[in-house]
Amino acid sequence: MKQNKPCSIIRPHDESASHHAALRENPANTRAPNAMGHGIRATGYFKKFWRAGRTLRVRFLDPHSFIGKMVYMAGFWEWQRYANIDFQLSEDEDAEIRIRTICDDSCSTIGTDALIIEQSEATLYLAIPIGEEGFMATLRHEIGHVLGFEHEHMHRDANIPWNKEKVYAYYLEEHEWDKERVDHNILKTVDPDNVADTDYDTTSIMHYEVDAELTDGVFEVGENNELSEKDIKAARYFYPKDPDSVPWKDLLDNP
Ligand SMILES: [Zn+2]
Repeated sequence: MKQNKPCSIIRPHDESASHHAALRENPANTRAPNAMGHGIRATGYFKKFWRAGRTLRVRFLDPHSFIGKMVYMAGFWEWQRYANIDFQLSEDEDAEIRIRTICDDSCSTIGTDALIIEQSEATLYLAIPIGEEGFMATLRHEIGHVLGFEHEHMHRDANIPWNKEKVYAYYLEEHEWDKERVDHNILKTVDPDNVADTDYDTTSIMHYEVDAELTDGVFEVGENNELSEKDIKAARYFYPKDPDSVPWKDLLDNP
């Protein structure tokens, strides 16, 4: 993720609607275990993965040539090589994924939260033009959110030695982000029960570039442009080829 094009997450205004949408789509969202095979510890936590094997329609709200649309779709189909989701270009009003490209910031809903966005509104904003440096990396990162993955730098084990004052100052000056937006997209850690609880991965496409200027001066993470091995593993794990072999199915059958 290029640091000069930071992405923010579209958080649900209504947690209850978010919860219902996640469960209606995929009951396993309340029981999906972490990578260690443990179930979710407490009630009230849920993940936002789509049902494995389902089709997700992708509609563009701004005009694009067919070729242009295909360039974006290539990003979806790259993830689709690993995640059992059938992304289809669509003109349907009620397409699950609706994209705006004429916008100032790149941002996305997380997984099933797309279902609670008004049909006239986008669920995914891609501000970086085709062909610009970082385009594919941004596309891959945002589609990771579409599939239900959170920011990797907010992983509970990340322990990034942020220099918070510098982080706030940098994002305010460079991107006009207020403190709250920085907290929610960079500094906070995400509860492991609400995310794909895989091991922390500094090479993940879901990890921002971290400049040593914004940490203790030593810790840094370079620009990640490709899906990492663990990104691919997580896509396969949460969206298995055989939907009946969802790894947490036993927990569903034996609550
Ligand atoms: Zn992001």
